[in-house]
This record gives sequence, structure tokens and C-alpha cells, in this order.
Amino acid sequence: MKFNTAVLHEGVSRDERFGATLTPIYFSSAFQHSSAEELADVFSHKKPGFNYTRTGNPTVSAFENRMTKLEKGIASIGFSSGMAAVSNALLNILSSGDHVVATATLYGGTIYLFNDLEQFGITTTFVRNNDFEQIENAIRDNTKVLFAETIGNPSLDVTDLGKLAEIAHRHNIPFVVDNTVATAYLVRPVEFGADVVINSSSKYINGNSTGISGVLTDSGNFNWNNGKFQNFDKFKKFGKFAFIAKLRNGLFRDLGACLSPQNAFYNLLGLETLALRFERSCSNALKLARWIAENHSAVTVNYPGLETSPSYEIAGRILKGGYGSIITIRVGSRENAFKIMNSLKLAYITSNIGDTKTLVLHPASTITVNNTEEQRIASGVYQDLVRISVGVEDIEDLIEDFDQAFKSVEGV
Ligand SMILES: *Cc1c(COP(=O)(O)O)cnc(C)c1O
Repeated sequence: MKFNTAVLHEGVSRDERFGATLTPIYFSSAFQHSSAEELADVFSHKKPGFNYTRTGNPTVSAFENRMTKLEKGIASIGFSSGMAAVSNALLNILSSGDHVVATATLYGGTIYLFNDLEQFGITTTFVRNNDFEQIENAIRDNTKVLFAETIGNPSLDVTDLGKLAEIAHRHNIPFVVDNTVATAYLVRPVEFGADVVINSSSKYINGNSTGISGVLTDSGNFNWNNGKFQNFDKFKKFGKFAFIAKLRNGLFRDLGACLSPQNAFYNLLGLETLALRFERSCSNALKLARWIAENHSAVTVNYPGLETSPSYEIAGRILKGGYGSIITIRVGSRENAFKIMNSLKLAYITSNIGDTKTLVLHPASTITVNNTEEQRIASGVYQDLVRISVGVEDIEDLIEDFDQAFKSVEGV
């Protein structure tokens, strides 16, 4: 099935009871069973079924199954947020004393997480994305994860997924990829060798910003029995489902960052139009980026779909069907950035991406405000940088809005 069909038909069985055309929202904290034996069997995984929504729910499960198909994995787990998905994915693998190699251009929240994991004895080395030699040299004996994002946010560097997967696997460690900014519409990282894929479904998957959620998908391809991951020994019997079994029978259950059935429903609804919305956002972003480059030479525009982008060549190999919906612009000073943002009439000033509406943000004073200036620059955030998450509006209206906003600032 191709993507537009898959978002509508794959992974979710039809409602046999009443013929509902959408998966109903199962607003129930717990599920009853016909006998004590049956509930015991559900608890010991001898029988499929649900017992308590913190560990599983039919609406959540439908969303997980559809994501598994779209990301070409073997199983998924939904979470209360993208950060919960990132945290659970990492903590399922790492123990005290372990080390991570991560690209420096990560989402600010994920950099906070790596900093905060230090109190548990888990350390991280940040490397320049696609600097294969630096990445290789940063891997040590106790390194247990190589972590990257498909498209860095907001630096918009596109990761050479195949190459990083190869480096990770040469060192017998899993390659974990955050695919939020690209989505499965542009690329399935598993097809390039990623072992675990994370999405903040608060963004494009949900699409309308109706709720926070996240999801991780396991490829089933990583060999956890290679001698480096003793914490997986008890889960050998689950074969290629070892990663998911360990998480479901461990920290996912314990930390309780479960996805609400209501938000799972919004995500299923959002997924149905993911391809349509994202196709439009990507094409709007390319048009807006080109228009800015051609008409406002004082503005430096960064977009992987422009030939001037350092990621243009890699983007052409990794992404299919577009270059994402995020553009960043540098406008000379923080004052100019604020003035342009305040002059926009259509765009919302919001710390979010992936809405149907166009959103703008000043990352240096918001999502990266607690990072050091050095971390900010390494992640491509400057004081004069504005991030634009391009929506699905008519491009003529967007261009008109940005034109009048640029004209409000002298010299731009
Ligand atoms: C937003 C985002 C996250 C965090 O997701 P939440 O749903 O806000 O917790 C993680 N990674 C990337 C790339 C994001 O854009």
C-alpha cells in the first residue's frame, strides 16, 4: 500500500460490532473479563486483551498499529508526549555508567533530557551531524546508543541516516532516530537502518494541535544479544520483540506516561490527512523559501529544499516528496526578529510546529533559553533567527503577510 492509502487503511481493523468507520474512543480506565482465569491470562500475556489503560487501551492500540505500518516497524508504543517517547526509548536501553553519542542539532527538549540524565550516571557526547569521523571517534566501549533526528529542529540539517546506521551497527549499538520533523510521509528511517524511531505526534501526526502525545516504533532488527546489553538477557525469549517486551514489562508500565484514548483518537483522525496536509505544507514552504531568497536579499533563508542549503544533496537522497515544512530565517538582529514576528498578521507566535496554521518562533529566547550560548550555536540557533512552521494556507496570502512584515523593518 502506498502512503495515502496506508494512512486510511493499514493496521486498524474495522469495527465489527456496529460498523463505525473510525476507531471509537474507549473511555475506560479498566476492562472487565468473564472469569478470573481470563484476566489472569491477560496479565500473563497468554491471551490478548486489555486490563488497565495505563498499560493498554483499544483506541491507543489502533493508533500504535497504524504507526507501526507507516514507520515500517514491528510494534509501537504510544506515550503522553514526544518527550515521554524519547525518555522511555533511551531508558529502556541505558543503565548507569552508559554513554550516548548524539548529534548536536537536536530539539532543545532532548538536549535538556541528555543533560538531566547525567544525575543518573548517563553521559552524552554531542557531535556535528554527518561528521562521520567525529561520530566514529566519539563512540567508546560504554557507548550504548547513537541518537539523531532526521531533520534537526531548528537547524534543518538532514541526517545521512544510512551512513549513521552503518557506523552504529559497526560498533554493535542501536541507532535511535527522532523522525518528528520529517514524518513517515517523507522518510521511513527503518528503511535506512534505524533501529528505533520516535515521533512527537503532537506535531504533524495530530496536525491540528489538539493534544500532546508521542510514539515510538521498533524495527525489530537490532540484535540485543550481542554481548553489550546484559539488561536485555531476561527478554531473549521474546526474539525480535525483545525491545518492546522489555519496555512494556518495565519502564513504560512503571513511569506511567501513557497515551490518553482521546488523544489517540485525535492522532488517528490526524493521520488520515497527514499526507494531504504535509504535501501542502512542504510545497508552501518551498515556495515561501524561494520567494524570500529571491525578494529579500538581506534575509538569510535556510531550507533543505534550496540549493544553497548545506543539506540539499543529502535531503535529495533521504527525503522523498518534499523537504519538510520548516524554514528558518536570519534577519540581522534579535530586535528585527521580534519586529517581524510582531508584524505578521496570519502567523501565530507559538512554540510549536506542524500545525495546519503557520507558526513563528524565536528559538533563542524560548525553546533553547536554558541552553548555553555554545549549545545554542552548535544546534544552529542564533539571536537573529526566526523559525517558521509553514501551514496549509494559500501561498499568496502567506507571501503577502511576510512581505508586509519584512517591509516593516528597515533594511530587510
Ligand atoms: C516537539 C518535539 C519533541 C517533543 O515532543 P512533545 O510532544 O512536545 O513532548 C521531540 N522531538 C522533536 C524533534 C520535536 O519537535
